[in-house]
Amino acid sequence: MLGAGIAGVACARVLVDAGCDVAILDRGRAPGGRMASRRLRDTGTRFDGRIVDYGASYFTAGDEGFTAVVKDWTDRGLARPWTDTFHVYEPGGIIGVRTGPIRYAAPEGLRSLVDDLASHLPAIQQERTVTALAHDGAGITVDGEKFDRVAVCMPMPQAERFIPGDLHPEDTPPWEPVIAVTMVFTERTWSEIDGVFVNDDPVLTWIADDGRRRGDDAPVLVAHVNPVLAAAHLDDPSGVSPFAVATVRQVLGIDALPDWVWAHRWSIARPIEARPEACWVHPNAPVGYAGDAWAGRPRVEAAWASGTALGHALIR
Ligand SMILES: Cc1cc2nc3c(=O)[nH]c(=O)nc-3n(C[C@H](O)[C@H](O)[C@H](O)COP(=O)(O)OP(=O)(O)OC[C@H]3O[C@@H](n4cnc5c(N)ncnc54)[C@H](O)[C@@H]3O)c2cc1C
Repeated sequence: MLGAGIAGVACARVLVDAGCDVAILDRGRAPGGRMASRRLRDTGTRFDGRIVDYGASYFTAGDEGFTAVVKDWTDRGLARPWTDTFHVYEPGGIIGVRTGPIRYAAPEGLRSLVDDLASHLPAIQQERTVTALAHDGAGITVDGEKFDRVAVCMPMPQAERFIPGDLHPEDTPPWEPVIAVTMVFTERTWSEIDGVFVNDDPVLTWIADDGRRRGDDAPVLVAHVNPVLAAAHLDDPSGVSPFAVATVRQVLGIDALPDWVWAHRWSIARPIEARPEACWVHPNAPVGYAGDAWAGRPRVEAAWASGTALGHALIR
């Protein structure tokens, strides 16, 4: 298993439940991938030690299998229904609200949910950046180690760095970057919103209220930078922070400056669309692909469904 985001962990669970021996390799320090949470440190505020979600903002649960997983998480207090309503901003001001499916969040951060799914798996080999996958008459190898089958559960632009082209699926979608800017304020001075879709804005696309999302009401906001601006600042993510802060203050009518600001670059944040197939298995090589570029929607729940489908496909 290459990649321990939610797709890889979902795939590994299917394989382990079927009695397969599974090795899970991930380049990060912890599982979760883009369901990313971190503890605030050295902020100079009272919020040091608090967790913030700086990757995926939330998840939905429309898929039947994933709904059961989410129910288990909510029953155990690991996940919480956050909201079904966000505000909408257009140049000039907030124009109303948009209601949709329930969005879920996690009191301990979204990464904690992947940790939970991984808790019954063999230990994940973290900080293992895979650099070579090869397939020939002798079988398939990952960094020289032989395996029967390989599941690739990471964005294609990352997989393409070490997988030969003849083992790739065709027509995979392009990806776009995001810079996520976290802002810690002294206190809440904005009105009760959960999140704001920022439309037609050159700086931001989205603002999440992380305090309301995670349920502790801390005055912490996370804003996502418009992919066009993000693409221009991948070498200098903190360079967008002043623009992001100014736009957040304008959208939410905040007079104060944040006490602490941190910009995280997601060079490969989201596929602009997802292929409809749940996953893809190479017709002539024991290698398959899953993740949020499959299963119809570039979302957490699709990544879970895709990983699960790939697990079943590899068993077949
Ligand atoms: C800023 C942002 C906001 C988002 N907002 C939402 C949202 O609101 N709702 C929603 O549903 N989805 C959202 N998403 C998308 C969501 O995060 C993804 O759909 C989901 O987390 C994808 O999971 P995955 O397992 O397919 O991939 P990933 O989580 O990317 O996992 C891939 C794993 O592969 C590992 N890896 C990569 N290269 C290597 C290598 N060479 N060797 C070993 N390991 C490697 C990585 O460390 C990572 O752990 C957002 C994403 C971002 C970045």
